[in-house]
Amino acid sequence: MNLEKSLKENFGFSSFRKGQQEIITQVLERKNTLGILPTGAGKSICYQLPAVLENGLTLVVSPLIALMKDQVDGLQEQGISATFINSSLDYQEIEWRKEEILRGEVKLLFLAPERFSLGEFNEFLQQLPISLVAIDEAHCISSWGHDFRPSYLDFAKILLAWESVPTILALTATATKEVASDICRTLGIEEKNIIQTGFERKNLSFEVVKGKDKRSFVKEYLQLNKEESGIIYAGTRKEVDELEHFLSQSGFLATKYHAGLSEVERNRNQEAFINDECHVMVATNAFGMGINKSNVRFVLHYQVPGNIESYYQEAGRAGRDGLESTAILLYSLQDFRLRSFFIEQSEVSEDRKTLEYEKLRAMQSYGNTQGCLQRFILQYFGDDATDCGKCSNCLDDRESVDITIDTQKVLSN
Ligand code: ADP
Ligand code: MG
Repeated sequence: MNLEKSLKENFGFSSFRKGQQEIITQVLERKNTLGILPTGAGKSICYQLPAVLENGLTLVVSPLIALMKDQVDGLQEQGISATFINSSLDYQEIEWRKEEILRGEVKLLFLAPERFSLGEFNEFLQQLPISLVAIDEAHCISSWGHDFRPSYLDFAKILLAWESVPTILALTATATKEVASDICRTLGIEEKNIIQTGFERKNLSFEVVKGKDKRSFVKEYLQLNKEESGIIYAGTRKEVDELEHFLSQSGFLATKYHAGLSEVERNRNQEAFINDECHVMVATNAFGMGINKSNVRFVLHYQVPGNIESYYQEAGRAGRDGLESTAILLYSLQDFRLRSFFIEQSEVSEDRKTLEYEKLRAMQSYGNTQGCLQRFILQYFGDDATDCGKCSNCLDDRESVDITIDTQKVLSN
């Protein structure tokens, strides 16, 4: 089979990107596979093309109910028959969709993991000719990951208890070696069937900024980059509101996004950003998953995120078009107090808290390393790497302000 030809015919792309063809080939050979490709690398094609080529149905499990409709609409526009079933639909609509699926009229069915826990639905699924189960954001399965979701683990157990288990394709952008092994163990994927292209994003330049007034820094930065599109991640909703207000007052085309806004407002602001009516999106980490805006030139973290995985995933939303882009972390001690507070307040086990502190410490080391920032991140994920030559550490040979000791004090109390 000429895969490249099928890619062109069905999706209009003239060639595969790194990793895609290897993953698709394995899936078509019915090998359970874990694909680890960076954000924006094109993971969706890895299940979409097999879905089109195979006779059966492809299930796509994703935690993002809000995005299922967009994904399905996108596929239908390309003439590929897809649908979703989730809690946003009423009983009658779900019944109609099930009938459509039973008639064999659907190639891709998007589901949230919770659906599998509904006994009746689980039985419904098992009578279908399923050729592939694609699991997006597969790191959510691992309790070692930064975004563990028990519903994902429950789903995995239910799936593996099926009388006949279809081929499984797990996909993620962020997995340390431990998380990758954990996903493989949980889903019955042989480690030799992990396909990984490396985490490097050559067009991103990383910067860590310390000891500056954050607001002034942002204002200056935006003045210098007036025409550019960028995301500013802040730690809390309140901070998002205040910063967006400050920037709008200062004359910038800013908008905002967080879970405290109404759905209407969130959608409106998101559209304004995607259509370049607003240049700057100030948001909590609720913004970004599944947003496909290619010309984001910078991602600026106003506060330190809780772990490297989240940081890299969020920073990676810059430069999806492959053009030079910047990822800036504004680093301060107060941020570690806030993060420690979040961990203390969260209702999770002591083991989990210990793990989260460990991840936070890695974030701290990132802020304090004198070495290449890109290399630091890649090594965290287990990649070999050389110095990027363009991050703030590679470029800066001035003596840096060392706040490691103070940070340790914050983290140890
Ligand atoms: P990921 O899930 O890995 O973050 P997506 O699957 O959302 O990435 O794809 C990111 C973008 O790349 C999409 O706009 C998609 O259409 C595009 N894309 C995927 N594969 C190719 C390809 N082989 N050639 C060109 N563009 C591609
Ligand atoms: Mg994706």
